[in-house]
Amino acid sequence: MSESISSIQTFDHDVVVIGAGGAGLRAAIECSSHGLDTAVVCKSLLGKAHTVMAEGGAAAALGHTDPRDNWKVHFRDTMRGGKFLNHWRMAELHARCSSECIRELEEWGAVFDRNPDGYINQRSFGGHRYSRLAHTGDRTGLEILRTLQDHGVHQGIHVHQECTALRLLKESDRISGVFGYWRDSGRFVVFRAKAVVMATGGAGKCWRITSNSWEYTGDGMEMAYTAGAELIDMEFTQFHPTGMVWPLSVRGILVTEGVRGEGGILLNSDGERFMFRYTPDRFRDETAASPEEAHRWLEGDKSARRPPELLTRDVVAKAILEEVDVGHGTPHGGAFLDIAGQRDAELIKRKLPSMYHQFRELAEVDITKERMEVGPTLHYMMGGIAVDGETQMTAVPGLFACGECTGGMHGANRLGGNSLSDLLVFGWLAGKGVGVYVGGLADSPQVLSDQVEKARRDAVAPLNRDDGANPYLVHEELQDIMNKDCNIVRSGDGLERAIAELNKLKEKASRIQVSGASQYNPAWHEALSLRSMIVVAEAVVRAALVRQESRGAHTRLDFEGECDEWGKLNVVVRKKSDGSMSVNKVERGTPPDHLAVIAYSSLDSLEGGVHV
Ligand code: FAD
Repeated sequence: MSESISSIQTFDHDVVVIGAGGAGLRAAIECSSHGLDTAVVCKSLLGKAHTVMAEGGAAAALGHTDPRDNWKVHFRDTMRGGKFLNHWRMAELHARCSSECIRELEEWGAVFDRNPDGYINQRSFGGHRYSRLAHTGDRTGLEILRTLQDHGVHQGIHVHQECTALRLLKESDRISGVFGYWRDSGRFVVFRAKAVVMATGGAGKCWRITSNSWEYTGDGMEMAYTAGAELIDMEFTQFHPTGMVWPLSVRGILVTEGVRGEGGILLNSDGERFMFRYTPDRFRDETAASPEEAHRWLEGDKSARRPPELLTRDVVAKAILEEVDVGHGTPHGGAFLDIAGQRDAELIKRKLPSMYHQFRELAEVDITKERMEVGPTLHYMMGGIAVDGETQMTAVPGLFACGECTGGMHGANRLGGNSLSDLLVFGWLAGKGVGVYVGGLADSPQVLSDQVEKARRDAVAPLNRDDGANPYLVHEELQDIMNKDCNIVRSGDGLERAIAELNKLKEKASRIQVSGASQYNPAWHEALSLRSMIVVAEAVVRAALVRQESRGAHTRLDFEGECDEWGKLNVVVRKKSDGSMSVNKVERGTPPDHLAVIAYSSLDSLEGGVHV
């Protein structure tokens, strides 16, 4: 391919948002409402992002289903779920603002399920004290994305679809644009911009068993890291307890927590409801102690405590793993999830239509009559790009980030439903941050041709080699390394081994060869996304090796339990000037008194309605 810089297609916008999921669209709407010429660039088609796949709901303390709920209880639950490692201010903003963001969506046309009084209905999810998830059956993400898309397009945002961003461009320290390519033609494109918002979602494709789809290769994290931003909390990778385990072709596909929220229970191969044996001390006062009490909760008895199936995801995932390890797993190495014995068929089909069809079509299982087989699947990255909690700006002037590609908000473990509300709150704040930043610029940054030329040369390198490694095989090797040595449980030896293997893999990846031209060439797409995956995988493994304790989603066999000292530290990853990765322990700020009181207080002092 010989495309000269001057012939590269170029667009001018005030702001470019990379990613058209909930975070990107919400940020774009806000940027546009500040009068900025705003474009969204997305790897896939508009409307196809993880946000659309979200089933269970968006957490917000609306207090409709239980009037005892309010933002303080939501904040407390989020901090406890995140094992107190969450960025205090982000967790506060999230809990305070998510209800308003849900109401705003409703004003823009989103239709949520209703309770008999006509208010937005809310369902139960793990780690949330009260039923808190606003939902639309089990297709909540679809409703949210549809609404944001309609609103954004009518507001005049530009959309560049099937376009992969590869590199951020800078003039001295500040952002000046984005370099990318059209996936169909393989032609390169430059977007000149005063600010960029990264909203590229997660990186699940680094692991073999994952609920994530093909787009989730950590591109945004890698681009931001390469441009000089920091990554934070990368060791915390969430394994959702209930992915499909059978048939093999669909292994890892998500079974929403909504199934347990609607009453589904977990059983081992002996038919035992084993979760009662796994309640951690921290959650004992909030968790039912017997099937009878759990049943009363299901029947709506407000004095009963939540069933143990609704403990946080890290706890449930590890419990299933342990049952399998001691020989009590299902035929395909998971646990049984049973809703048929708890709810009637009509309710299951009405509340969980996607799950009903998913199991019928993919596994030939009728969940209104039969049990599902489920097991842990890599689902979500708690870690990601470090941002300022108020403005969402990174360490690179003009580079903002929001949504799953950022770190900090969820600490060591995210509560289900807190991602959809995170996207809305921090997408909105990122847009506001961009408005202030761009408004304060004295001049427009320039795109430098040598950066564009380097990005172009790097991108075509795999096409210009006669011989080298196959990108698909390198990807499989990467997934094997992560699945073997950086999975739900980790050890120092395993992580050291993973680093050694990743070093070898990096060398191999630098020699990847792809046949053919750049048009319609999926092997070339794979080669380009591998660069991001390898950087993200290395950041996760190195951060996991540094954190010598077990907390939330990070479990070290050689360092059992939480350690107080580590509760005061984040692990931060940066790119050094020689290109290598630095991994440092950084002191966390102490919480302001008013938040510390809420996080560590007893529930009784917080309950009392949404106006508290
Ligand atoms: P996404 O929605 O993931 O969007 C990322 C965007 O970035 C996409 O448009 C993608 O094409 C684009 N992109 C990526 N790389 C590039 C690149 N290099 N160039 C250009 N574009 C790029 N959370 C909840 O709170 N509640 C739930 O019920 C829930 N259910 C879920 C169910 C499933 C099956 C999955 C997978 C996740 C679920 N989650 C849920 C998590 C939640 O959906 C995601 O964390 C969230 O949607 C991420 O949103 P986002 O806007 O950050 O990114």
